[in-house]
Amino acid sequence: MDKPELRSLTLERLTAELEAMGEKSFRAKQIFGWLHQKYIRDIDEMTNISKPLREQLKIKFTLNNIKIVEKFSSMEDNTVKYLFDIGNDIVIESVLMRYSYGNAVCISSQAGCRMGCSFCASTIDGLERNLTAGEMAQQIYEIQRDRGQRVSNVVIMGSGEPLDNFENVLDFLEIIHDKNGNNLSHRHITLSTCGIADRIYDLAERQLQITLAISLHAPNDDIRRRTMPIAKKYDYDTVLKAAKHYADTTKRRVTFEYALIKGVNDSAENAEQLASRLRGIMCHVNLIPVNDVSEAGYTRSSEKSIKAFADILKGRGIETTVRRRLGSDINAACGQLRKRYKENRGV
Ligand code: SAH
Repeated sequence: MDKPELRSLTLERLTAELEAMGEKSFRAKQIFGWLHQKYIRDIDEMTNISKPLREQLKIKFTLNNIKIVEKFSSMEDNTVKYLFDIGNDIVIESVLMRYSYGNAVCISSQAGCRMGCSFCASTIDGLERNLTAGEMAQQIYEIQRDRGQRVSNVVIMGSGEPLDNFENVLDFLEIIHDKNGNNLSHRHITLSTCGIADRIYDLAERQLQITLAISLHAPNDDIRRRTMPIAKKYDYDTVLKAAKHYADTTKRRVTFEYALIKGVNDSAENAEQLASRLRGIMCHVNLIPVNDVSEAGYTRSSEKSIKAFADILKGRGIETTVRRRLGSDINAACGQLRKRYKENRGV
């Protein structure tokens, strides 16, 4: 069996492992602090841990590190895109966005994705592998280290479907919010899913204070099935019911993401239908001008139709925002950069 990866262990699990090795539980806290507060990359950097114990740790565990391979800074805004090497020629991407309230990072939860949404670049080559909890956390740590600034908000909206990597994502959420580690409030974390309804119920049961975002991108089953294969497994009503359950259980407002694609889902009629479907759900709609993905042949809706769409929703009492398009000059949309990198290297 593979050795456990040290950075992916929750404090509870690390404590159990250390106790099984005959160590006191405070050692687990020290080690956890080195990994998740000081962001070390090598077990030998744990200077208050004795050399024999460090050697034992190296025998029992691995400590995988992701490495920055490229960095692209947007000339239009302060967005920075990071490409990380996670080993075996696999790369993933994360994006740092600077807002007035602080630094937000968009992290990947999988290398690639198997959901197959037709407008999304992350899924074109399928799923390469799930990311571990440690690899999700380290995207944040390496960016913090690179900028010398703290990341205050995290969105799990990079490549991958987080609810298709459920256990690792839950461990990540526990690790990142642990006060003995990075201590990031769950209220500052958003998890975005294409709508795996069964897992939304499982997540609701955990009663975490994270924000759930659901990629809806359509006002009905017919249109949704055209762009999102998951809609064939979980129909519109099923997804909305799960969303309502999540909001009712956690008392957290759910976000619906809606990427506007010209001539596909952006008519006034589409907006009216969306408004009636969302009635009674504590929610917020985030309209996203679709980023062009040449493979799919979709183009962004005009500014005028985006505004008209937003106005209809608002007029029907639905809180609506239009996402600012950050970093479009550096291919900051989901999976675009990684894809370009792979193509250039012929991987
Ligand atoms: N798998 C998750 C999270 C990753 S995608 C999900 O589906 O929500 C993050 C968001 O970007 C999703 O809403 C996704 O639908 C959207 N997205 C993907 N490709 C896009 C594109 N070309 N333009 C705009 N949004 C896109």
